[in-house]
Amino acid sequence: MNWQGKRVTVAGLGVSGIPAARVLRGLGAEVTVVDDGDDERARAQAAELEKLGVTVRLGDGASLPEGTELVVTAPGWKPDKPLFLAAAAAGVEIWGDVELAWRLRGPGAAPWLAVTGTNGKTTTVRMLASILAAAGLRTAAVGNIGVSLLDAVTGEETYDVLAVELSSYQLHWAPSPRAHSGAVLNLAPDHLDWHGSMAAYAADKGRIYEGNSVACVYNVADPATEDLVRAADVEEGCRAIGFTLGTPGPSQLGVVDGILVDRAFVENRREQAQELAHVSDVDPPVPHNIANALAAAALARAYGVEPAAVRDGLRAFRPDPHRIERVADVAGVTYIDDSKATNTHAAEASLAAYDPIVWIAGGLAKGATFDELVGTSAKRLRGVVLIGKDRALIREALARHAPEVPVVDLDRTDTGAMSAAVREAARLAQPGDTVLMAPACASMDMFVNYNKRGEAFADAVHALAAEHA
Ligand code: ADP
Repeated sequence: MNWQGKRVTVAGLGVSGIPAARVLRGLGAEVTVVDDGDDERARAQAAELEKLGVTVRLGDGASLPEGTELVVTAPGWKPDKPLFLAAAAAGVEIWGDVELAWRLRGPGAAPWLAVTGTNGKTTTVRMLASILAAAGLRTAAVGNIGVSLLDAVTGEETYDVLAVELSSYQLHWAPSPRAHSGAVLNLAPDHLDWHGSMAAYAADKGRIYEGNSVACVYNVADPATEDLVRAADVEEGCRAIGFTLGTPGPSQLGVVDGILVDRAFVENRREQAQELAHVSDVDPPVPHNIANALAAAALARAYGVEPAAVRDGLRAFRPDPHRIERVADVAGVTYIDDSKATNTHAAEASLAAYDPIVWIAGGLAKGATFDELVGTSAKRLRGVVLIGKDRALIREALARHAPEVPVVDLDRTDTGAMSAAVREAARLAQPGDTVLMAPACASMDMFVNYNKRGEAFADAVHALAAEHA
């Protein structure tokens, strides 16, 4: 593709827009960046880009600049934006950041092992990169974390293979990428306001399988993921590989007697199973995280990685902060920070991992309902402490499905509320219990982000521990 003089509009001055504008300008394109925002930070970023010869139009992300030949959009921009409608009407293509990265790959570029799903993407991609590194491969976990995909494909560093995290938004705007192998970890309603419907959301996630050459990895416990494999158009010889927490069938990875085993990438899958690792090699060894490890192992095995490297890579992996992170034990009670559980599906997974639990929950519900979550977790709840703006929704679900469980409703959204919540939880808990902060909600009503929420929880637990020391 000849970029010289090509008129490209970059929609969104953000984490993907700025590098996209730089790279395209570097290739000789005439780049205009548009954004709805117009604050001090945006102006400073605009000034930097303008030095490179990029045009920046702040405060107007709605209209399509005249003469645009291609739009490159930030993944989060909703498809019904007027700018996109104008582009479609003018027959102008719209690419997301992932499409751009794919198109800019050089000859002999590293193949992609790609991961999507409602929850567990970052964890799985990092586990996968750890396994690939243990196999001696030059690799990186790219996407939401660490290196951006565009940097990974256009930068100096060369890779053998990339572990790529893809969100449903990114997949929506990326019709061309063809992964070596792809995985959909799970599918639960999320971001439906953006995608329009569950079917549209699932279809966008399913794009990860399009054109796969070796394996389409699906979750046996989540048949919708297998349906997406069936619907995909893949290369001749590409296989469907399931992962399960139970005993694996042929062409599956699973768990037998505390051991992660592979019945897919072995000589004789009817009769043979290959040991990969022990459940205790996975940190933390809770069910949904074992599922993530199996998905990572399946992609690595599809790429030809030896079993010992799967084990070593999983052993070397440490989870990111605020994802089922054990903070401390105080008076025989374990305190776990799962602030990253910002939706009900994630919270359901961590609630399934402990018993009995004092649950700290609440925040911004983003349109979610809590009946299913509360219904499946009710038996394990010693008590509940509610915080945040939408806590009434959870309280009402508890009244319907777990009326006997004591609930402390903290009518607070100030920053000190977390410390009060931890104290209330400590009062409800008995030795041997787990206090689990897995809010099932976003954090922005009370905190800057989920990191800050997790830090507030950890601070409160440490203060409690100091009193008991
Ligand atoms: P993502 O990148 O998809 O947001 P993360 O790995 O950052 O995923 O995990 C997000 C949240 O989802 C965490 O709270 C974690 O406990 C939970 N989680 C991780 N893996 C799974 C899974 N396989 N199923 C359900 N929930 C999960």
